[in-house]
Amino acid sequence: MSDSIKILDTNTANKVAAGEVVERPASVVKELVENSIDAGASVIEIETEQGGMSLIRVSDNGCGMTPADAELSVRRHATSKIRSIEDLFTIDSLGFRGEALPSIAAVSKFTLDTRDKHAEFATVVSLSGGTDLQLGSLGRAIGTSVTARDLFFNVPARRKFVKTDSTEHGHITNMLTKIALARNDIAIRYKHNGKLILNCPGNGSLFTTIAALYGKDVAAQIIEVSYAVNGITVYGYIGKPSLIRSNRAWQTFCVNRRVITNKMLFRAMDNAYHSLLPRHGYCFAVLLIALDPAIIDINVHPQKSEIKFSDEQSVYSATYKAVSLALTNPESIAPESTQTEVKSTQHTRSSFHAAPPRIERYSQKPLVELEPIRTAMRNAEIRAPKPVSEEEYCNASAPQQQSLPADSAHIEIYGNFANTFILASVDGNLLLIDQHAAHERIIYDKLTDTTERIPSQQLLINEFVELSPQECTLAIAHALDFFELGYTIELSSPTTIRISEIPVDMTGSTAAELFLSALKYLQEHQKPDSAKLRHEFLQTAACRAAIMSGAVLDRNHMFDLVTKLLKTKSPYTCPHGRPTSISFSQADLYKMFKRT
Ligand code: ADP
Ligand code: MG
Repeated sequence: MSDSIKILDTNTANKVAAGEVVERPASVVKELVENSIDAGASVIEIETEQGGMSLIRVSDNGCGMTPADAELSVRRHATSKIRSIEDLFTIDSLGFRGEALPSIAAVSKFTLDTRDKHAEFATVVSLSGGTDLQLGSLGRAIGTSVTARDLFFNVPARRKFVKTDSTEHGHITNMLTKIALARNDIAIRYKHNGKLILNCPGNGSLFTTIAALYGKDVAAQIIEVSYAVNGITVYGYIGKPSLIRSNRAWQTFCVNRRVITNKMLFRAMDNAYHSLLPRHGYCFAVLLIALDPAIIDINVHPQKSEIKFSDEQSVYSATYKAVSLALTNPESIAPESTQTEVKSTQHTRSSFHAAPPRIERYSQKPLVELEPIRTAMRNAEIRAPKPVSEEEYCNASAPQQQSLPADSAHIEIYGNFANTFILASVDGNLLLIDQHAAHERIIYDKLTDTTERIPSQQLLINEFVELSPQECTLAIAHALDFFELGYTIELSSPTTIRISEIPVDMTGSTAAELFLSALKYLQEHQKPDSAKLRHEFLQTAACRAAIMSGAVLDRNHMFDLVTKLLKTKSPYTCPHGRPTSISFSQADLYKMFKRT
């Protein structure tokens, strides 16, 4: 019998480890940027091509490595950051497992060039798929550049899990945005396919960094948070309640300058805002929390950035208190402010062309080709833009009973209960009708009457929606889908979408809100199905545009509603499947009153 247990050779082991560390291009970028941070860099430049699949390069002006360390760094478990298990508990640096570089090298065409302050030249280490190590030298400034080309070229199975370039680029942008907020003392620049995407000044001002990342409109609507209790400091900015989004993508939490996620912090945020936000809204937030490392456990999920606090309650209450205090004075828009509690070694090496910070507003080329959308627009039949407001709807002269077409049911309105349920008789049956659900059904049927583009209306005053750069990219990538839904959208800045056309029968603000929920759908589905998107969108649209329960309706309006409801394809359920009406025949009533 042959032995079946074998020790994996180092290269295979590295490829296996790579599966854990190197999930997708964004995880490579994250590891490399964290190494640059650990090396004390004050400027980090990231360059990717094709969502990072063909090229990832991270360059820094950090301390660099000696030639011997450069060679060691691509070996497994080579780390300069810990020596023993005890160090794990006091670790302050981001990486410490010594796995990242060998794992990345194992699945790419890898080059590292690095120069420390004692060396005259940089050492160049290159490998292909983790083997064939070549050494060389090169002239460069002090610091390190790591280049990984053709990611997963030798692991085709992994390549299949990688999404489209724009999805991967979105992940990278998202992750770098958060790191840039956590480390606003480091100048971080990100270029994708040669285009500058992020440009953070690194001047230590969180406010300026937020403005550089999210645009000045967002920066104009944020409130400063600053609070300290029992050794826990909470500093940052939160959005005014008017600045909401339908998901948590723009909430960033950092603990001791490390980006983290923690459910309890989300809850503290939600609770502090409680009644100020609509049921499905999330506020903008960037909170930098500083506390004694002894009360956190950062090694829960080295990759997933999940964090545990051994004293959850005190972190929760500090955060809740900090946010609540800031919200009690919502008019106080924070001025330019400099962090004080988070200090870092500033490296001022002139060699890394540290140009003065500048907020890049680009309006060069659109992110996607807009011509197909324009063509579709030209060919589309633009229907009469006749928005009907609720008021108009209420005031409209409803048809009188006698003007009903002969084939119509006989309808009599008795009244309304709790401004929610219409009491009516229809062809001798007693009906209780939910006014909101009924109107929802009517609107839904009207919108779905066509399989073509949803009828739209031109806005006199365009709606502007502030988003993160990656959300803008996603929205524009789906501009044609939005066009089908009745929208015309355009990129008006890297962080703003202009909406010039919206679906009929709704207000601009409702349309903007629906746009955000459709965007959320696209974010949540890797391969969004247009038909499903349309169905979900119409459901929500009908719900948002329908008369609310509690609205006072006059008899004509109720009559009109019931008449229209009976003409719909499924008058008995709303688009969500809930009943629109409950019907009692005379026999039912006799039975209920035991009069048989
Ligand atoms: P870890 O970060 O877990 O120590 P890595 O594989 O990411 O492991 O890096 C291995 C070692 O290489 C690090 O401990 C560090 O000494 C060195 N290193 C990696 N990247 C850089 C960099 N950009 N600048 C200086 N040293 C670096
Ligand atoms: Mg590392």
